[in-house]
Amino acid sequence: MGLDPKRTIRELKELRALTATEDGAQRVAWTDVWLKSRDWFASKLLGLPVEHHLDAAGNRWVTMAGESEKALILGSHLDSVPNGGWLDGSLGVLAALEVMRRIAIDFKGRPPVTIRLVDFADEEGARFGRSLLGSSAFAGTHSVEADRVRTDKDGIRMDQALRRCGVDMDRFPEAAQEQKNAAAYLELHIEQGPVLENLMLPLGVVLGTKGVERHSIVFYGQEAHSGATPMKTRRDALAAAAKLALEIRTIAGRHPDAVCTIGSLKTFPGIVTAVVGRAETTLDQRDLSAAVLAQMYREAREASERFAKEEKCTVEWSRIWNIEPIQFHRDLVELCRQAVMETAGVAHQLPSGPLHDAAEVSRAGIPTVMMFVQSIGGISHNKVEDSSEEHLEMAVRAFDRLASKTMRWIESGSV
Ligand SMILES: [Zn+2]
Repeated sequence: MGLDPKRTIRELKELRALTATEDGAQRVAWTDVWLKSRDWFASKLLGLPVEHHLDAAGNRWVTMAGESEKALILGSHLDSVPNGGWLDGSLGVLAALEVMRRIAIDFKGRPPVTIRLVDFADEEGARFGRSLLGSSAFAGTHSVEADRVRTDKDGIRMDQALRRCGVDMDRFPEAAQEQKNAAAYLELHIEQGPVLENLMLPLGVVLGTKGVERHSIVFYGQEAHSGATPMKTRRDALAAAAKLALEIRTIAGRHPDAVCTIGSLKTFPGIVTAVVGRAETTLDQRDLSAAVLAQMYREAREASERFAKEEKCTVEWSRIWNIEPIQFHRDLVELCRQAVMETAGVAHQLPSGPLHDAAEVSRAGIPTVMMFVQSIGGISHNKVEDSSEEHLEMAVRAFDRLASKTMRWIESGSV
């Protein structure tokens, strides 16, 4: 028997039954439920012609040696956010397992190229606020010192929590050894947004992950009595912040896939009888083009200075975090387009707004592409997260096609 997409759905439900409560998935990395999900996954490997181990960052690697040492890597993550969905991450891992089983049968355990499956540790960063932890260690982009002192909501330090799971943060850099012979990385994931559903398409080809500019912006005015201060003489910090909140919609609106979000606004003193003397906001900007991202940042900054001046205020910016846009490998995007086309008849290409482990793998210089399956209602990181079983089965079939095409691409010496 070859590929069995229905088995993937059965296994996803099995994992859900094992690790979800009525509030959703609870596979938060470095917790007992997560360890249980990983033990369950390891039990699925019995009988397959594979070797498996955990690397220095806790990523699980499953390897089926091939005629060539060049390796095709398939992967995603089993960890979830608290009260998460049943598909985010786990779909990619279990679809990869199904493809690996099919390849083991087709090639009697000895495929032409080496096939590896990876379950990255702590993609979500739900407990310590550090996303893409395992994949960044693999990519060699991780800075251990900045993270080891992070604490969870109970005050437990990250390095302590990891040690309890057998992972020593001092050894994180050794995870980069797993890059050896890596020729390509493929990841299947739910879209987590509404684009494919709005187009009534089951599957999508992911062009890359958007770059992110994340800033804290503080407007300074003058606290003043709300009764005694005439409108004309006010230095209202909220007025300037409010103008910016509207302006970023225009700034993003000039580019088809760009997004800008002011997700937080705090006013001080924040009482009903005072003009706002200080308004603290955050801005998150994303696009697949570095040039567009830089332009949107510049425009938002200029606008904030203009609005501050209009309101007789001042403004200060400080960067919270940023990451450059990641464009996936052109050849693999084309192979993904073919696989989606052959399976679904239409191949829509779209960027990913959320970051994924694939972004880190791509940063390591390994040719990478992702495939998306439609999310019902565009909802994720929520127990209602769902995709239709018909679409999930199509996704496993299309991903299997992509794996076959990529194996031939690797064999042909394109890398
Ligand atoms: Zn995910």
